[in-house]
Amino acid sequence: MNKIAVGKIPFVDLKAQYSSIRDEIQEAINGVLEDTNFILGKHVKKFEEDFARFCGVRFAIGVGNGTEAITLALKALGICPGDEVITVPNTAAPTAEAITSAGARVVFVDIDPDTYNIDASKIAEKITKRTKAIVPVHLYGQPCNLDEVMRVAKTFNLKVIEDAAQAHGAMYEGKRVGSIGEAGCFSFYPSKNLGCYGDGGAVVTNDKDIALKISMLRDHGRKEKYLHAFEGHNSRLDALQAAVLQVKLKYIDEWNERRRKNAQFYTELLSDVNSVTVPKILTGAVPVFHLYVIKVKDRDALMARLKGEGIETGIHYPLPLHLQPAYAYLGMKKGSYPASEFATEHIISLPMFPELKREQIEMVVDAIREYLG
Ligand SMILES: *Cc1c(COP(=O)(O)O)cnc(C)c1O
Repeated sequence: MNKIAVGKIPFVDLKAQYSSIRDEIQEAINGVLEDTNFILGKHVKKFEEDFARFCGVRFAIGVGNGTEAITLALKALGICPGDEVITVPNTAAPTAEAITSAGARVVFVDIDPDTYNIDASKIAEKITKRTKAIVPVHLYGQPCNLDEVMRVAKTFNLKVIEDAAQAHGAMYEGKRVGSIGEAGCFSFYPSKNLGCYGDGGAVVTNDKDIALKISMLRDHGRKEKYLHAFEGHNSRLDALQAAVLQVKLKYIDEWNERRRKNAQFYTELLSDVNSVTVPKILTGAVPVFHLYVIKVKDRDALMARLKGEGIETGIHYPLPLHLQPAYAYLGMKKGSYPASEFATEHIISLPMFPELKREQIEMVVDAIREYLG
């Protein structure tokens, strides 16, 4: 394979996907423009019904973005100022930000070094009288150990709000993630597995009262036009995005399957490369590989090398949240969450998207092998 002729390998390629569904998308967008049903209304409703069915739950509520999905879910579950909510430091900043936005205090629990997801055995030691909920994250599209999380939650009477922003369609013991806790939160940010063409999000739940509360919270606390039961937010999924998502929902299982095939191919090829740790899949889990994350000793040098070969990579995430300036007020020092800190120094996300080609995966692995020997 001639490397120069093939050229750059992008980290994600949103254009490739758009090209494959261009006509359907334009028709869907035109449909909304023609009937001018821009806010809530039938397009949003239709997508909510189909997304609920996809997740195997009774209700889906479209909201402004994934961050607000978490905030509104927490509020709907009665989380108040003064409450404590548990999550991990190795996640996208919005997970923790959403907890603070709901008025609660963020409490971090370290990750399992092998799965990069919450270490459920460390939750109990962080629980106080004020702890009300856990927000486990299915990071990289890998379902976290929900069995354990649900068991701890039950023991301590805590709510579980799943952050499934990176895991649309992933399964845990036969169920879609997002459908197992009291609520599941999704982001439709463009580069997510199911992404729209702007911001968007959804909360899913089987609980009718929670669903109603969220649908009011997203729309100024009202059920009727000029009757406000409480103060809410302006956080609605807009109809143009719902129409885009409606088209894409038809393909998500197929796209996720392609991601899994790509991941499997990476893992196969990397099996004989020295000192690379490939992603671990929990028993009972069907991941959707939002990201394909490996662990290596000399991460920064490898990244630089790959960049030199035209291969884009990423780090998810470069700084654990407890060490971010935004969380300095928690007073956490380096060493507080060793597994998260170790991960942030050694992980690298390789190019991953459904349309990634086998030859491209071979080139990435060849470049890694050349470097690591
Ligand atoms: C993207 C993401 C969010 C936030 O979603 P937005 O739609 O960008 O607000 C929250 N949690 C995780 C894990 C994410 O990846």
